[in-house]
Parts: sequence; structure tokens; C-alpha cells
Amino acid sequence: MDASLAKTDFDAYLDGIKTFTRDTLRPNEHRLNDADGVPEEIVEKLRAYGLFGMAIPEEYGGLGLTMEQQVLVTMAVTEASACYRSRFSTTLGLSSQSILWNGTEDQRRKYLPKLATGELTGAFALTEEQAGSDAGGVQTSARLDADAYVLNGSKRYITNANFADLFVVMARTSDTEKGAAGLSAFIVEKDTPGMICGAPDPKMGQDGAPIAEMRFEDCRVPVDNLMGHVEGTGFRNAMSGINTARTHVAATCVGQAARLIEEALDYAVKREQFGHPIADFQSIQNMLADSRAEMKAARALVLDTARRFTQNPDSELRADISCAKYFATEMVSRVADRAVQILGGAGYMKAHDVERLYRDIRVFRIFEGASQVQQMIIARHMIGEEAGRAA
Ligand SMILES: Cc1cc2nc3c(=O)[nH]c(=O)nc-3n(C[C@H](O)[C@H](O)[C@H](O)COP(=O)(O)OP(=O)(O)OC[C@H]3O[C@@H](n4cnc5c(N)ncnc54)[C@H](O)[C@@H]3O)c2cc1C
Repeated sequence: MDASLAKTDFDAYLDGIKTFTRDTLRPNEHRLNDADGVPEEIVEKLRAYGLFGMAIPEEYGGLGLTMEQQVLVTMAVTEASACYRSRFSTTLGLSSQSILWNGTEDQRRKYLPKLATGELTGAFALTEEQAGSDAGGVQTSARLDADAYVLNGSKRYITNANFADLFVVMARTSDTEKGAAGLSAFIVEKDTPGMICGAPDPKMGQDGAPIAEMRFEDCRVPVDNLMGHVEGTGFRNAMSGINTARTHVAATCVGQAARLIEEALDYAVKREQFGHPIADFQSIQNMLADSRAEMKAARALVLDTARRFTQNPDSELRADISCAKYFATEMVSRVADRAVQILGGAGYMKAHDVERLYRDIRVFRIFEGASQVQQMIIARHMIGEEAGRAA
């Protein structure tokens, strides 16, 4: 399939992605764990299908899909291991969108075409030991010295850091501006002296989607690589990518839930106890039905949010993006838990995909804003609306 089909006949393109997921991604899932990464010949296919550049406009070499189309593609791809999505998501969501919405035209022309084709893998480096949910707490510093900013500090949990070619890095350019206002974003190319990446960290799930620590030791980044050539816009940068990323994570949870339900149903109709398939028992049916209903509710919510998506959402849409991310990530946790329960002992065994999927999906409630952060955004919007009505 040629990626250009996405523009001429999106439904046929989506069918092609579904076939690719069924025939290539799913049968190769077992290889991800062994390699702690996606095999290169499959990455080539992700590139060929345009997945790295789904959210990048055509004028910069991407597919320029609408958010609704991006979400439909994401749901299809994530019926296979979420590690495949992780391979292109850091390019697609956080790093390319930061450059697209906040970079100078020269920065866009220089980097976006190569990110769109997947020739370059992007990564996004925000999180630090003291700056997790509180992103404004970033301590990595960037001091202007002649023709370069000198970065010092460390980052952790950075997805794809061990092989990424280009990093969007948040660092503090001002000590007087406290919190988010003092942050700036930098485009840092791989092999820049002073940028050191650690070995992949062991983690609970998503073996095949590596994360690592990074250190910056007097790392000189050319002034030209200050995002948008403007200091103090780092937080705005982070937010412009995060709206896309949160919507994509919500869609991922729908795809993963569909897969878990398929696995649980397949097992329930085949496994017999007390002389019957366990699918005949009402308590098993209840779990299947609850999972299907919740998955469909999340799918509808994510699609509705995607249809209304704009890059700079007002507070109502931002709260709705949080609703989608919050509901879908919590939903897939319940679905995964039920899937393990339906499989009984088999669901606890490494031999079955459900055991791996159960571990893989746990992180969705933590990254791109933990559930508690989404609740905070939603509730603050509600309280703000109420205050507006009262005034
Ligand atoms: C697999 C993985 C991949 C990641 N990839 C990246 C990446 O590519 N780039 C990157 O920059 N980061 C990445 N992260 C980091 C991720 O975004 C953070 O882990 C996340 O933002 C939470 O931060 P924290 O881990 O420091 O937890 P903390 O912020 O310490 O939170 C701990 C707990 O406290 C809660 N909490 C915090 N503040 C509040 C509050 N105000 N009210 C109520 N509850 C609160 C949280 O919800 C959570 O339950 C990744 C993390 C993981 C696990």
C-alpha cells in the first residue's frame, strides 16, 4: 500500500492499516520483547505507510490527516502491541508538533520533512526527578554563551532516547521567571557533545518501547536551535504537543481494549468448565458485556473529541481532551483486569498475550498527564465555568 492512498481514499488506506496490523504487527509481537525494540524491517513499513508523519501537513512532507483520521489509524494499529505505536509516537505527537506550532519556518523546513518520513526519530525530553506532574519544576538550565546555549541537568523516563536522532528538550533560561514562564524549548541533535543518554531502564511493561535517562553536561546547543528563536515559550511548546499526544493515547486505549476483549472472548467460548464453555456463565458474560460497553463509550468519546480537535484548544476543549484521556485510560485498565480474570490462570501466564497486554496498558494512566492531573484539569474547568456563571 502507498501512503498517498490516505489522501485519495482514506477508507481504503485504513483497511490497509488494519490488514497490516493483523498480518504483520500481531504475528511479530513476540519479537519486540527479545529485541527491546521494533525490528528494523517493520519500522521500514511504519515509515512507508506514513505513520511517522500522520500529523504533519503535506507541505512539510507528512500525510496531514485530520485528528479524526489520526485517531482511527491509531485505534487500528494499537490492536497490536502498543510498542509499535511508541516507535513513531514520540516523533508524531510531541516532537514534530512542537516544531510545527512553535518553530521558525527555517526550523520547520529543516526538520519536519525528515520527521514525517521517519528518517529522523524525534524524542521529547521534559521529565526530571523533581519535575514530573509539575512540569514547571524543570531544573535543567540553559545559559546563553556567545553563539550557543549551554545546557546542564538531567532528564528521566525519555521514550526512544537511546536511538532518537533529535530531541525537543525543555530547559530553564530564566531564574527570575519562576515555574513554567522561565522554560524554553531547544532542538538538540543526536551526538551533540555533552548530551549523554543512559542505557534503557527496566520497567513493568512495553518491553520493546525503551525509555532512558539523559544527562546534559555543558552541552552547547546553537542559538539557532532555540525553538521559535524565543525564550520563555517552553511550556507552551510542551502543551502544543500534549493535546495531540493525549488524544492519541486515548485512541490507543480503545485499540488495546478491543484486542483484550477479542482475546477474552476467544478464550471464553473455547474454555470449558462444568461441562460448558465458560462463556455460558452469566458472570463471565457480564464481564464481557461491561468491557464491550465501556470500550464503545470510550471510542465514541475519543472520536467526538477528535472531530472537535484544534491545536490551540480553549479551556472547554482542553478539559474534554482530558476527559477522553482520563476515561479511556481508566477504561482499558478495567478491561485488562477483566480479561485476566476471564482467562483465569492462563491470564497470569507469560505464554498468553493477555498477561503482556495487562502490563503494557498500565502506564497509560501515568504518562501524558496522570489520571489525577486530568481530573484536576477537568474539575478546574468546571469550577471556572461555575464562577463565570455566578459573576
Ligand atoms: C513508560 C514511560 C514513558 C515516558 N516517556 C516520557 C517521555 O518520552 N518524555 C518525558 O518527558 N516524560 C516521559 N515520561 C514521564 C511521565 O510523563 C511522568 O512519569 C508523568 O508525568 C508523572 O510524573 P512522575 O512520574 O514524576 O510522577 P509524580 O508527578 O511524582 O506523581 C506521583 C503521583 O502523584 C500524583 N500527583 C502529582 N501531583 C498531583 C496533584 N497536584 N494532585 C493530585 N495528585 C497528584 C500523580 O497523579 C501520581 O499518582 C514517561 C514515563 C513512563 C513511565
